[in-house]
Amino acid sequence: MQVTSQSQFEAAERDAVPPLERITDGLYSLGVEFPGVKPHATLCYLLQVGNDIHIIDPGWDSDQNWQRLVSSLETIGGRPNQIRSVTVTHLHPDHLGMAQRVRDETNALVAVHPAEQRALKELSAPQPKQLVLERFKNWGVPDSKVQDLLSAFERRSNWRGIDADLLLEDGENLPIKSLGISALHLPGHTTGHLGLVDAKRGYLFTGDHLLPNQFSGIGLGGSSDNNPIEDYLQSLDRMLEFDEFEALPGHGYRFKGISERTNQVRSHHLERAREVSNQLGETSVWKIAEKLSWTDGWQNLSGLALLSALSQTELHVDRLRSLT
Ligand SMILES: [Zn+2]
Repeated sequence: MQVTSQSQFEAAERDAVPPLERITDGLYSLGVEFPGVKPHATLCYLLQVGNDIHIIDPGWDSDQNWQRLVSSLETIGGRPNQIRSVTVTHLHPDHLGMAQRVRDETNALVAVHPAEQRALKELSAPQPKQLVLERFKNWGVPDSKVQDLLSAFERRSNWRGIDADLLLEDGENLPIKSLGISALHLPGHTTGHLGLVDAKRGYLFTGDHLLPNQFSGIGLGGSSDNNPIEDYLQSLDRMLEFDEFEALPGHGYRFKGISERTNQVRSHHLERAREVSNQLGETSVWKIAEKLSWTDGWQNLSGLALLSALSQTELHVDRLRSLT
């Protein structure tokens, strides 16, 4: 894997917010702050075509990030009222968050994949607390951890949805005619996660599907007819035809070597599947999860990280049982 932005790489090493950067004519990246959770920066992309500006993943909604966006536009000779569209790779608030504000301020169109729009509707319906507690009980969560997980669940559910103006199916073009950037449906991280293919210039916007310096979580938004791990592995396969492209991810830094990174990520998840399969005799998701190897150590997981670890363990168990 080859890092193609030294400044983004250095910022990622320090978990800092990288500055506005020109990638090529009319294409810029801009770090926006994601408070509270690591990594603390999301990469937002600006496309400038004549007098029009298009945004990919505006990032977390805050006054500070809005100011960053406005001053970045000034730097490249643009203004908010030139923003025509906002395309969002997936529904997480560190990507979708500011879309509503941008639309309110500018009348820009907001575009997502149809499955992501359905997921947003699902997630905006409050889940009865009793159902959530039952799920934790089925996982075998000890009483001492229930409150922590419940708070994390409620925080995660507190997402502001949006009714998109445009639904982008796989293969459809973004509303930027001259560039011919097309949507690539990559379910797994969320059910309607989009990658974006700039075939003319050789860029692949990977969102959170493929990141250079962390392994993406799986099954973190919306229900799917398939097991999200299976979806994710299939979506990884779709990366391989873009090996010549430069990856423009949602976090971290730009890089080349998409196949190499894809293979590393696939191995990581298959290794996790192997670990889980060795523990399938255990009586609960909790008991399986505590025996797996976690980057931060099982004892150190809490809140959202613990919730995500347990739900991914459950997805692995379901997948493995369906394979046997
Ligand atoms: Zn993200």
